[in-house]
Amino acid sequence: MSVFSDAWEGGWYRPAQREPSPNFGIRPPGTEVDLLVLHSISLPPGEFGTGCVRDFFLNRLDCSAHPYFAGLQGVQVSAHFFIERSGHVWQFVDCDARAWHAGVSRYRGRDNCNDDSIGVELEGLEGGQFEPGQYHVLLRLTEAVRARYPLRYVAGHEHIAPHRKADPGPGFDWTVLRTAQSLADLQFPHQANSG
Ligand SMILES: [Zn+2]
Repeated sequence: MSVFSDAWEGGWYRPAQREPSPNFGIRPPGTEVDLLVLHSISLPPGEFGTGCVRDFFLNRLDCSAHPYFAGLQGVQVSAHFFIERSGHVWQFVDCDARAWHAGVSRYRGRDNCNDDSIGVELEGLEGGQFEPGQYHVLLRLTEAVRARYPLRYVAGHEHIAPHRKADPGPGFDWTVLRTAQSLADLQFPHQANSG
């Protein structure tokens, strides 16, 4: 298909560190994966590199370890990818499968965005800034996704669940993806900040 196809082993992105999560399902038959959904997360919020996000997506988080974690007890979620502040990338769910990152959502006229999207979590605080290395890795990852899936849209969680979610928020610089020549055929949110 293109040089980027080499980046994949089935629905697993080779540059990512694989850590399969039990939190996934099959996509509905005939699904066209045309949406990339961007999120921000850090556990505890505002603390980076703790390993807690990975543990959370693997249902291994010690919910007694921090007061904030009490509210996460029993919560089963996942994303396909998690990009740490360092640029290190984890993959928890095969991109051919359905990860549990979007929740109740609607975008480009379709509900249940988990069915036909790929979810990317950026380590960060909602509304805060992100690291240059994270943008670099995200750009490469988006190009690779576009090479394997019929990707047409990139949106934030805030755009697919606007009354419920606000991540990644105004600190995310959409111009990095928006101005990438390699992604010129993709559509980005209308109200996205210009950086
Ligand atoms: Zn989110």
